[in-house]
Amino acid sequence: MFDVTVSTSCQGMLASSNMVHSASMNKNIEQCSYWLASRHNYEPSPALDKDIRVQVCVVGAGFTGLWTAYFLKQLDPSLDVAVVEQQVVGYGGSGRNAGIVSACIDHSHALAIAHFGRDDAQRLAHVGLQNIDELAEFAADCDFEKTGQLHVALTDAQMEDCRESAAVASTLGIGGHKFLSAEEVKKELNSPLYLGAAWVPGGGIVNPVKLADKVKRKCEDAGVRFFERSRVVELKDAEITTSSGKISADKIILATDSYTHHLLPQLLWRFIPLYDYIVVSEPLTDSQLASIGWSNRQGVTDGRTFFNYYRLTADNRILWGTSEAMYYSPNRVDESCDHSESHYADLAVSFKRHFPQLADLQFPYRWGGPIASTTRLTPFFGTVNGGKVIYGLGYTGHGIGSTRVAGRILAHMALAKESDLLQLEMVKKKPFPYPPEPFRGLAVNAVTASLRKVDKGEKPNLLLKALDVFGIGFSS
Ligand SMILES: Cc1cc2nc3c(=O)[nH]c(=O)nc-3n(C[C@H](O)[C@H](O)[C@H](O)COP(=O)(O)OP(=O)(O)OC[C@H]3O[C@@H](n4cnc5c(N)ncnc54)[C@H](O)[C@@H]3O)c2cc1C
Repeated sequence: MFDVTVSTSCQGMLASSNMVHSASMNKNIEQCSYWLASRHNYEPSPALDKDIRVQVCVVGAGFTGLWTAYFLKQLDPSLDVAVVEQQVVGYGGSGRNAGIVSACIDHSHALAIAHFGRDDAQRLAHVGLQNIDELAEFAADCDFEKTGQLHVALTDAQMEDCRESAAVASTLGIGGHKFLSAEEVKKELNSPLYLGAAWVPGGGIVNPVKLADKVKRKCEDAGVRFFERSRVVELKDAEITTSSGKISADKIILATDSYTHHLLPQLLWRFIPLYDYIVVSEPLTDSQLASIGWSNRQGVTDGRTFFNYYRLTADNRILWGTSEAMYYSPNRVDESCDHSESHYADLAVSFKRHFPQLADLQFPYRWGGPIASTTRLTPFFGTVNGGKVIYGLGYTGHGIGSTRVAGRILAHMALAKESDLLQLEMVKKKPFPYPPEPFRGLAVNAVTASLRKVDKGEKPNLLLKALDVFGIGFSS
């Protein structure tokens, strides 16, 4: 996994000729994911070109920044809000993810109980359920399909894990899991590898770039000003500087997720930037689709630590991703990490193993994107510069739903308004720290090697058992 050849641009993806591209878009950005490539007629907002003052300035126009601006205006429609983005809306993880939306705000209910206690885990679980209902309604015209999710088991032990997590969920009042035998799951999606599955209700699939664009439109309608292609190079007190202008504000909100250490290096104690990789196929013909079934179109994950995740797009392409996350020492997050030929090769092999009937399927789109993970696998929040700068980040690969809740939290923090959300342990407590470099890279190598052995059926070694005692997880 760590012996990779990485190309330095987005040339790994072949642009499809039937896509409508806006002439003014930067070619690299269009090619950084299937979703960004198939975005229609997007006109970025002008860059910041002078010094201005606003009440709240949000840095980063991924889901966190967009939802924060959206909820700020809901809380106070007269507020003067600006959003500053280094590239274009959705350039980061928000425009490059798989679009599989989970109702969970936590990474797993069992972890939430371990970190926050049963009462708070229950609150978090119900916040997640309400959030997904509201998101589904908002995103109805963003190809949102409330399909639920299939957690497929490739071994008997994974089936047991599925049953255990459903049992934990039901103790928190979250029911509705449906267990499928090998025969039943193959009727849903026909892979020879499946031994069973849990069909988990609540979640769904979405086109993430359509969702980001819709939140941006709603924000603009409410009067939020956007400045794209405006990279913040300095943060001082409550003022940000770009190459062509400054914004001073009462409050600055950093919604920069895996890029946050570029502006606040001290936060590296609390998160690690990782890269996940995805490929997307050509559209399936009717007979190709019939060979696998998938008429209920669920987003799918399997039960390994480094699992595959996959879904159908609205035009019946298969999106195939891997959580075999890559850490680029020392905490690199830049274009040089956007591709990994070795991950693409592994994705091709794993796809053919799962669906031999589609062995000839071509995958013209491929890309990687940054994910911020924490030791507890849930986001964290805080303030610096005497409370004038507020941040929220670290969603792992579960950010589509949880960034919407984070937007509410950050908006309430910025306006000092009360909310039950601010009382959540997840908001009040910081995650256990990661070691700094050079130990960080070594630790990631050791943990990754150990987890890979568990995925091959070995028992957890002493290192993993020790991390478990401290509730420390490693996952994208
Ligand atoms: C490959 C991949 C697959 C994923 N799959 C899923 C999935 O299926 N389901 C799910 O729920 N989650 C998934 N995720 C995670 C999810 O996409 C993220 O958790 C979520 O998008 C984070 O949103 P964000 O707004 O906090 O961060 P981002 O979307 O990364 O936004 C941060 C923004 O800040 C901007 N920025 C950074 N620095 C500066 C600066 N100095 N000046 C100005 N702007 C700046 C960036 O350009 C970026 O647009 C996946 C992520 C990846 C990468």
